[in-house]
Amino acid sequence: MATLGFEAHDHKHCITDGLEELRTQCAAKNLQLTPVRKRVMELLLEKHRALGAYEILEHLRAEGLGTQPPVAYRALDFLVTNGFAHRIERLNAFVGCAHLGKQHIPAFLICRGCNAVAESPSGRVSRVLGRAAREIGFQVEKLVVEAEGVCPSCAEKAPA
Ligand SMILES: [Zn+2]
Ligand SMILES: [Zn+2]
Ligand SMILES: [Zn+2]
Repeated sequence: MATLGFEAHDHKHCITDGLEELRTQCAAKNLQLTPVRKRVMELLLEKHRALGAYEILEHLRAEGLGTQPPVAYRALDFLVTNGFAHRIERLNAFVGCAHLGKQHIPAFLICRGCNAVAESPSGRVSRVLGRAAREIGFQVEKLVVEAEGVCPSCAEKAPA
C-alpha cells in the first residue's frame, strides 16, 4: 500500500474507484447506500483534505440534500463505522479512505498549512507499539497515528 495524498497521481481514479468500492461493499454487506451517504463519500474523496462536518453540511444544504447537522453526522458515522472514511482526531474532521477494501490501520500525515492529509498504512508503527505494549501487559484497543507537519506544496510556497 502506498502513502497516498501528497504526490502527483491520477486523482480521478481515487474518486471513481472509491465510489465503486463503496457501492460494491454496500451491496455485499447489505448496507443501504442513500444519496446523502454517497454524496458525503464523494465530497470526502474529492480532495485529499480533511473536511469538517459543517463544511459537509454546507454542501448538502446547497444541494438540497439536507439542512440539519444530524444529516451530515449520521452519514459520516455510517462511513466511518463501515471503514469507508476515517476521522482525523487532530482536526476533528474526516477523509475518505485511500485504501478501501484492504485491512489496515491508517497512519495520517496532516499538513497544518492546507489540511491536506496523506494516508499511509501504519504497519511498522503499530507493530513496534504493539510489542512495547505487550512487554508491559497493556492491551491496545484503539490506535491513532497522526503526524502533523508541512506538505510538499506548502513547503514550496513558504521556504523556511
Ligand atoms: Zn487522489
Ligand atoms: Zn484507510
Ligand atoms: Zn499543505
